[in-house]
Amino acid sequence: MESQLPEEQSHPRESTKVIHHGESFANSTGTVMPPIYQTATFRHGNPEGFDYTRSGNPNFRILEAVLCSLENCNYSTVFGSGVSAITAIASSLSSGDLILCEENLYGCTVRLFEQVFKKFGLRTKWLDFSTQSSIDSINTLAPSMIWLESPTNPLLKIMDLKKICANAKKNQIPVVVDNTFATALLQKPLELGATISLTSTTKYINGHSDALGGAVCTQDSSWNEKMKFAQKALGLQPSPFDCWLITRGIKTLPLRLHRQVDNALKLANELAEHNCVQWVKYPFRSDHPQNELARKQMTAGGAIITVKLKANQKEAYSFCKNLKYFTMAESLGGIESLVCHPATMTHASVPPQIKQKLGIDEGLVRLSIGCEDFLDLDRDIKQSLEKLK
Ligand SMILES: *Cc1c(COP(=O)(O)O)cnc(C)c1O
Repeated sequence: MESQLPEEQSHPRESTKVIHHGESFANSTGTVMPPIYQTATFRHGNPEGFDYTRSGNPNFRILEAVLCSLENCNYSTVFGSGVSAITAIASSLSSGDLILCEENLYGCTVRLFEQVFKKFGLRTKWLDFSTQSSIDSINTLAPSMIWLESPTNPLLKIMDLKKICANAKKNQIPVVVDNTFATALLQKPLELGATISLTSTTKYINGHSDALGGAVCTQDSSWNEKMKFAQKALGLQPSPFDCWLITRGIKTLPLRLHRQVDNALKLANELAEHNCVQWVKYPFRSDHPQNELARKQMTAGGAIITVKLKANQKEAYSFCKNLKYFTMAESLGGIESLVCHPATMTHASVPPQIKQKLGIDEGLVRLSIGCEDFLDLDRDIKQSLEKLK
């Protein structure tokens, strides 16, 4: 059937792909939305080959198919959280292996590598991958894996994914890109040469802050086998219900993100003009140091804004507290706006000298822009900034 469709219909666009997934494993009912397969086990010898939910469930496969379609890849494996997905990848390495990490990785990734996997002999080295010298050092350091994030949290630093992946490829070094901040809608790591695209589906993909999940996408069948093995062997699987929620959430990803990105760009521009603001970081603003690179590898600048206020810790804190529509909370990517004070929240456990090196100082505030009306968010930010004066 597929092959008889005209070209444009057999290659649907992204807003269509996230809504129309393939198999729902319920053909005899004609159900429009997939059921929740709330079962621990399956009758032996069923045609789809399901056996036990720890190693697979129809709701996992439905979500995996949508994620594959969005990333344009062959394989996807879903997990119970972003951290479970990271665990799955790290657990496939061996004692003595070296992971070359971007120095500005998500805090829980750092904690997992340094406080858990280190005990099992995994080694890490931290580099600023936005520099040419770090990219040049890849092949001499001969790591077993490279771990990147772009844009980074919270400073929105951009890595040249294509260049790093091309260099790593010379020695067949697998590259993992944590794509949580951009999502496959704004950036496609696998097309830029990465081996693995990792996402915390808790954030933009689900988008409603009501479920946790993670996913690994790849074109490499051996990595897919490792991920399917880790899912069942380490018990990293999600629940069918959370997969169902995320499958529902992803249907509106393009709609939500479009609105969020639009709000974010406008708010970043407004913030930059305010005299209580020292600087604003937003990848698609021309004053972002890697604006050109961001525009080359991303289709939009995302919906996170990082602002350096002319404020000490106490003042930055009250700026966050005085906002009405931005709840002060960790996490990001939901339809509701959130604000976070990285120095005392997400990066509280980072030693002061490292915080300073990374640029996470007390006046820094991270905004996750939601789908509310721009005017309400703008007014809210301005009334709270005025109180700083
Ligand atoms: C939230 C997040 C994770 C972890 O995801 P969970 O679903 O919370 O386990 C990993 N990487 C990045 C960049 C994140 O923002």
